[in-house]
Amino acid sequence: MENLVEIRDLTIDFPLRAGTIRAVNHVDLDIPKGKVTALVGESGSGKSTLASAIIGLVSVPGKIVSGQILYKGRDVLKMDNRELNKYRWKEVSMVFQAAQNSLNPVMTIREQFLETARIHMENYDESAALKRISELLGYVRLEANRVLDSYPHELSGGMKQRVMIAFSLLLDPQMIILDEPTTALDVITQDYIFNILKRIHEEMGITMFLQTHDIAVVAKVAERMGVMYAGYLVEIGGIRDMFYNAAHPYTKQLLQAAPSLLDELKERKPIMGTPPDPYNMPKGCPFHPRCIHAKPICEEQIPQMVDVAPDHKVMCHLYL
Ligand code: SF4
Ligand code: MG
Repeated sequence: MENLVEIRDLTIDFPLRAGTIRAVNHVDLDIPKGKVTALVGESGSGKSTLASAIIGLVSVPGKIVSGQILYKGRDVLKMDNRELNKYRWKEVSMVFQAAQNSLNPVMTIREQFLETARIHMENYDESAALKRISELLGYVRLEANRVLDSYPHELSGGMKQRVMIAFSLLLDPQMIILDEPTTALDVITQDYIFNILKRIHEEMGITMFLQTHDIAVVAKVAERMGVMYAGYLVEIGGIRDMFYNAAHPYTKQLLQAAPSLLDELKERKPIMGTPPDPYNMPKGCPFHPRCIHAKPICEEQIPQMVDVAPDHKVMCHLYL
């Protein structure tokens, strides 16, 4: 498996008035080329911060305090602005959470596409750009004739989100990052968009990195799944292995809390307790206050990431 992105020991802090929040805590993560990797976790677990860092965007006042983000071996964190601008659309593009709201309300979709194309396409040519835009709108099952002359308010939330996905593909990136791409949309629209994403992945062979709090979504599209908890990556592996042989107590609870995910799990069980206070993280394993398997060592030492199977790692003292 060739990796497109290799994240090494990434730590991101947010110094805030009430104290410093460690949003991402010494994370190592590989994103293999041509696969769909999903990151699940509750809101505030650090998924969006980690994903934004991959395109070199950590929101203010976030600070990267350690680590590397290697894209095809090049450290994104060392790129200058010119390199970053090129990298962002042509190599990796991102559809942000609630991206549909970032469309400019006073420009038609055509004007917005062309503006982006003009800025980022080498040898920009309007008719070639329009041809490409129409193709991409077809990919996300929108009628170019109808959509291009619309203003954002004339489109539904699901249509706007599909426009944003088409936008992200404009410069033929190697990878797209999708942060909660269907949050705020109804379930049928969500399903529709995930089918579209799946088809785009299959037909273009594009690498996808998806962040979601909804584990049921992961089952539909992802080939690999990582689980984040309080800034830590606590488990990662192939999707079947993660669903049928989950190792981390938190992953097991996430699976049990998801509706009708596995046939055997008839009963839904909510996850007990609440996530830790980010200003006052527990010592040792961050999950220990909620963990039914906690041992004395769990309150003292942060567990190391260990292999439990090929391409399946977990951060838990039960496996050391
Ligand atoms: Fe539970 Fe201990 Fe494993 Fe943490 S390290 S998840 S507290 S068993
Ligand atoms: Mg988020």
